[in-house]
Amino acid sequence: MKIAIKNIGTIVSGDWRAPLIDGDSIFIADGKFSTVGKVTAEEIESCDLLIDANGTTACPGLIDSHVHNSFGDYTPKQQAVGFLQSYLHGGTTTCISASEIHVAGRPSDRKGVKALAVAAYKCFENYRPGGMRVHGGSLILEPTLEAEDFHELRKEGVWLAKVGFGSVRTPFDYEPLVRAAHEAGFTVNAHTGGASISLANSIYAEHLLAIKPDVAFHVNGGPIAMPDEDFERLIVESQIALQICQAGNIRTAVKCVNLAVDHNAFDRVLIATDTPTGTGMMPLGMIKSITEMATLTDYPAEWMIAAATGSAALTYKLETGFLRPGKIADLLLVDAPMGGSKKTCLEAIKHGDVWSLVASITEGVPRFIGRSRNTPPPMRTPKVVRSTVVQDFSTAQQFS
Ligand SMILES: [Zn+2]
Repeated sequence: MKIAIKNIGTIVSGDWRAPLIDGDSIFIADGKFSTVGKVTAEEIESCDLLIDANGTTACPGLIDSHVHNSFGDYTPKQQAVGFLQSYLHGGTTTCISASEIHVAGRPSDRKGVKALAVAAYKCFENYRPGGMRVHGGSLILEPTLEAEDFHELRKEGVWLAKVGFGSVRTPFDYEPLVRAAHEAGFTVNAHTGGASISLANSIYAEHLLAIKPDVAFHVNGGPIAMPDEDFERLIVESQIALQICQAGNIRTAVKCVNLAVDHNAFDRVLIATDTPTGTGMMPLGMIKSITEMATLTDYPAEWMIAAATGSAALTYKLETGFLRPGKIADLLLVDAPMGGSKKTCLEAIKHGDVWSLVASITEGVPRFIGRSRNTPPPMRTPKVVRSTVVQDFSTAQQFS
């Protein structure tokens, strides 16, 4: 399918160092961005679907790098069905598993944790709820795992591992497991802050500096934050990515963003939700955190969008997260909400208002064009000008 989008008001790139792109149009062919900025008359002529963005803002689909999926579109924690499709209607087009810890009766033995990771990884390879991509199957690191287990799992496709829920004596015991995971090619996420379940240990900067994961999950607390003085240590003494979560402590989230900018480490700041958890199932969790970090700091909204898109893509080596030729075409059209005091999406976010989501395209396929079911009504609505595709795009597709 070839899609052309014209009359875009603002193009947000996903790269915080060059956050805005000149131009007003985008061309998508066969699931990837082909042109971003100035589309040719020939491209418009050749498209199957022509969308008039009507002055709305284009940005990459959001990547939530901390989602507690289980199997299917169901969260055991909040007993809610359809939460992933609901998150798509908040702007999340990619979810990364924070490990399948909410699966009822989840095993903790060596064979069991491996089987759970493989099953979750493979199920989500075949299932895209609402068109969303879910990277499922995050191996829960247990001290019974051997180096050969990591190589075996990589062969099956599993590439994520999680520190924080294993039966270790102290967090320092994770260090050899993380090393073995890295040697096999895993990306390792580590619980950060106060213990979130009774048997897990609190993990602070001294532990993370010794364990050396790739990402400090919910660095602002999940939901309880580590001591204030640990943030600067983590930023200055490591290259670990700093994941700010909606479910955490908002004061330490702001502190972490400010410290990261001060130390030229904003590349490492990621925005995620850490949901569904006890905090709830939050379809607007990503945009709430983007808005909070933009409105409570001195930095622009487009930087915070980058922390939820391009920076996450670089950290997790994904081919999404940027509006750039050659990247997988995950794109949102967003606008300032109706009834607010600001005229554009970026101004509204900086002001503290959440966006209005008016279109979602994933892997070059429109999932809806018009109004999201979860965000406020927009100032402007995009229109389908021409379509030769036999579908009206009015509702999200369950499967693809
Ligand atoms: Zn979590």
